Amino acid sequence: MQATRREFLYFSLFYAAVTLFGTGLYVVHDRLPEVPLHLAGEVLATTLSLGVFLVLWYASQWSERLEHYVLGVFFLGVAVLNLFYALSVPALPDFVLANSSAKALFFWVGGRLFAAAGLFCGGMTGETRRTTSALRYLLVGLGLVATAAFTTVAFKFGSVLGSVSSGTANLSSTAGNIELIAALLTGGAAVRYALKYLRSGELLYLMMVRVTGVFLASTVSSLLAIHGSEFFNYLAHIYKLVAFFLLFHAIFLVAVKEPFLRLLQVQENLRWVNENLDTLVSLRTADLRAVNERLRRAATTDYLTGALNRRYFLQKAQEVMLQAKVIRRPFSVLMMDIDGFKKINDTLGHQVGDQCLQQLVILAKANLRQNDVIGRYGGDEFAVLLPQADAQEAASVAERVIAAVAQNANPPFTISVGIASFPQHGDSVEEILAAADAALYGAKHSGRNQYFIYEPQPAAV
Ligand code: GH3
Ligand code: MG
Repeated sequence: MQATRREFLYFSLFYAAVTLFGTGLYVVHDRLPEVPLHLAGEVLATTLSLGVFLVLWYASQWSERLEHYVLGVFFLGVAVLNLFYALSVPALPDFVLANSSAKALFFWVGGRLFAAAGLFCGGMTGETRRTTSALRYLLVGLGLVATAAFTTVAFKFGSVLGSVSSGTANLSSTAGNIELIAALLTGGAAVRYALKYLRSGELLYLMMVRVTGVFLASTVSSLLAIHGSEFFNYLAHIYKLVAFFLLFHAIFLVAVKEPFLRLLQVQENLRWVNENLDTLVSLRTADLRAVNERLRRAATTDYLTGALNRRYFLQKAQEVMLQAKVIRRPFSVLMMDIDGFKKINDTLGHQVGDQCLQQLVILAKANLRQNDVIGRYGGDEFAVLLPQADAQEAASVAERVIAAVAQNANPPFTISVGIASFPQHGDSVEEILAAADAALYGAKHSGRNQYFIYEPQPAAV
């Protein structure tokens, strides 16, 4: 809202400056070379109109918005009619055809009607409508036909609108009515562009509000000049020129400069990417590697203790079993379970319980070899694979772990361990694990804080 108010203030100042300039010109007009000045102004207006058409026609193809083409095609007509107007003012030498004040007036009014209609139709065209190449050529064809028709009428029936002498207009009521229509169309376009701007916030629409605002001032001045007021005639000319300039400026900015700057920015970004491609690729690779590692960990280990999860532990057990069969060596499994863990949880809380699980894994690992594998089998139950270890070697590992836990655990707790070995106690992973579980059961039932080696009728060691 703040920005809109500032916009409005700037625009009012600009408007005032233009009006002041027009008034100043009028004040000193007796001392000005009016005819060359008028010709220069109208040639400039013609050039700007042609510029509007060319920019919209060639630079809008990236957006293919129908509203751009509608506006552009009307301004091609404006350029032609405006040029004829400039050349048919009676004070000029005859370039092509005999000049007359009637013809001049006809072209003046016609150029303005085309401009107002272009602003109106462009404004009325929805911002989402798109053109095709066929539609574009149809439009430009229609625009040229309409311009030719208007020109023919001007040459044949030029006098119906009244006449204009150098500097001073004397409009018939028909010409006045056409000006009135132009003013209404321009006013409608101004409202329509304001609504488009409020809805979309697009810069072009804000600039179009300015354009239509100034052109509206031109048509109103022209209406006020109907009965020969030179002052308003001056203002009408100046406002028109300024409006055409603003229009060209707006369209050039949006259709050429902005996309060009955006392109430069993209090019600059691409150059930067190119120069840093090696670094970017290696960073990306390192990223991917880290993510892969995290995923692998998440898929294979227990989040709380860092021991392998059950699924991955079983996979490892199959590998160890296969290897043991190939090299004909034994391996053993320890099944460890915390004694009275429920009570720890109940009395000291779940968090302390979690710490006990973590401690057990740390203390166990400290007493295992590099190749031994520890996995979390269930809640407080951990299984250890001891490749190439027989039951006796496994028993000494179990003894060390039991002692380490009993001595170091804080809060104090103990564990029980069941031991089973391949090939002594089974021929498959499932059988060995079941045997170790049975041995653990025996250790628990014989008083805990000890290990049992599996036997069909387990006995304490
Ligand atoms: P026992 O000496 O017979 O093993 O008695 P226990 O109390 O340890 O009994 P059991 O092994 O059946 O208890 C397992 C308990 O472990 C039950 C469950 O609440 C607890 N538990 C399971 N997972 C977690 C965990 O991730 N964190 C904690 N703090 N407790 C767990
Ligand atoms: Mg337990």
